[in-house]
Amino acid sequence: MQEHFLHFLWQYGLFDTQNLSTTDGLAMCPDYRGVHNANSGPDFSEARIRIGNMDWVGQVEIHINASDWLKHNHQTDKAYDNVILHVVLYHDTDIFRTDGSLIPCLELRNRIPAGYLQTWQTLSQSLASVPCEPHHPHTQSAAVLSMKHRALAERMWQKAGRVLSMGNATQFHWEEMLYKLMARYLGRLVNGDAMESLTSAVPYNLVQKYRYNAQQKQALLFGQSGLLTAAHKDDYAKQLFAEYRFLQKKHNLQPLPASVWKFGRLRPPNFPTLRIAQLSAMLEQTGLFQAMMELDSVGELKCLLRQKPHPYWETHYRFDYECAQRSATAGDDTLEGLIINAILPLRFAYAQYHNDTALQEKALDLLSALPPESNKITRSWQEMGFENNNAYDSQSLLGLQQLYCEKRRCLECSIGQRLIRNEEKFPALK
Ligand code: SF4
Repeated sequence: MQEHFLHFLWQYGLFDTQNLSTTDGLAMCPDYRGVHNANSGPDFSEARIRIGNMDWVGQVEIHINASDWLKHNHQTDKAYDNVILHVVLYHDTDIFRTDGSLIPCLELRNRIPAGYLQTWQTLSQSLASVPCEPHHPHTQSAAVLSMKHRALAERMWQKAGRVLSMGNATQFHWEEMLYKLMARYLGRLVNGDAMESLTSAVPYNLVQKYRYNAQQKQALLFGQSGLLTAAHKDDYAKQLFAEYRFLQKKHNLQPLPASVWKFGRLRPPNFPTLRIAQLSAMLEQTGLFQAMMELDSVGELKCLLRQKPHPYWETHYRFDYECAQRSATAGDDTLEGLIINAILPLRFAYAQYHNDTALQEKALDLLSALPPESNKITRSWQEMGFENNNAYDSQSLLGLQQLYCEKRRCLECSIGQRLIRNEEKFPALK
């Protein structure tokens, strides 16, 4: 058994609490088991426990064996002098404070229902990506719904945290952060790093400076990407290159190496050339950041982001290679992904920075109004019977899997807790 399973049992009082007594024979009753402490120091604080005819308030330390206290050198650590109860699975020795007084000990051996441990072992030792998968008949139960909401909130906070760390590097220039986030998302997994590097190679002040000159902005972005050369045959590319050489000299710019971009195995609509053209078109909007923070309708957000790149891209996916004509504007999937993965995390971060809970709520409302993402993870949850009707569902299922199931945080998950306590009408684990 692992110590954190004992923490879980103590935290929720999941042991036989009848006729409790300390190992030296005093009757005891925990009125309040305390607040779990994830940092250094004793495991629980602010506990209130009646031992004999005395009421104690203080800390509780938990170990598998009582002698672990000595292994961890707590006997010389004054931070443990306020421990009022030592909770152990096996009492193999008495433990004393630094002043020599005995620390009352509660031994849990013989007080833990066998089924709890068995269920926990089944969950923690499973190799499945979702260990409780066979036991989810009630996908609309309170435990499942509350867990989905918690996982979604954690996922959004995690994304907002990444945005805020970007804020430290940009002195919280929110328009610049939006520029970087949009670029990264448009590059997706394969070219996301290169797109973000491009936003450093073309600083936001230059994007602003050339906002109203589409050709110069495109020349800057393509030139600094390293994808423009002197050897192009198409007039559009030649003009951009000439413009770029002028701007490069004027601003003393150093382009990225073209080798940072990946085209292989990508579908042409995901080619970085087309994505840079789409980014350039989106950046032509005035008041983009403000609109992204304020608009409450998915339709309006998409409308603002759905900007037409230069007509050259309607017949090209990359320079000098002509293809059949089609729209070069970013499609619904891309715009929705952009809102989910760039705009809403930025809103969350902005809301956190300004302590604006109403803005956070609106971000969650927007997720409910967006279509669901469909990928291997969401499909596997759907096969288990979970609903995936909108982006709120898909983001919460992704959060649940990545933040809880993959990290085996079943003891912190309300679904796992109910399974272990056998409170939900789940079939018994084998
Ligand atoms: S974390 Fe929760 S949902 Fe995931 S496997 Fe454990 S109990 Fe199931």
